[in-house]
Amino acid sequence: MRKIEHLGVAVKDLEAAMKTYVALFGQAAYKVESVESEGVKTAFFAAGPNKIELLEGTREDSPIAKYVSKRGEGLHHVAFDVEDIEAEMSRLEKAGFRLLNDKPKDGADNKLVVFLHPKDSHGVLIELCQEKP
Ligand code: ZN
Repeated sequence: MRKIEHLGVAVKDLEAAMKTYVALFGQAAYKVESVESEGVKTAFFAAGPNKIELLEGTREDSPIAKYVSKRGEGLHHVAFDVEDIEAEMSRLEKAGFRLLNDKPKDGADNKLVVFLHPKDSHGVLIELCQEKP
């Protein structure tokens, strides 16, 4: 793990949340992207080297929509940048972490991603992400 890549914030209404974060950062999102397979629309903001990902569920059965209806809006996950996602997956699996997907999948912002079960990390949903070549 090299660094925190971004923090993910689950929101109810991406348009409304983007207005708030434009005001907060004083600049527009640098990327707005839908990931159809995950049922999410995302927007990325940057402050120096730090990034915030806003996520809105696009279907009722998407993980983000379920999260928001159960727990409300808020901090959803912490994403770590990794050099070799497969190597990290096998290292963490051996260390007892459960992976929520057994293969890396396409995430937003040109990344391969995998999530770890939040119960194994004291309630924090962790995303590993590797920049796609
Ligand atoms: Zn993320």
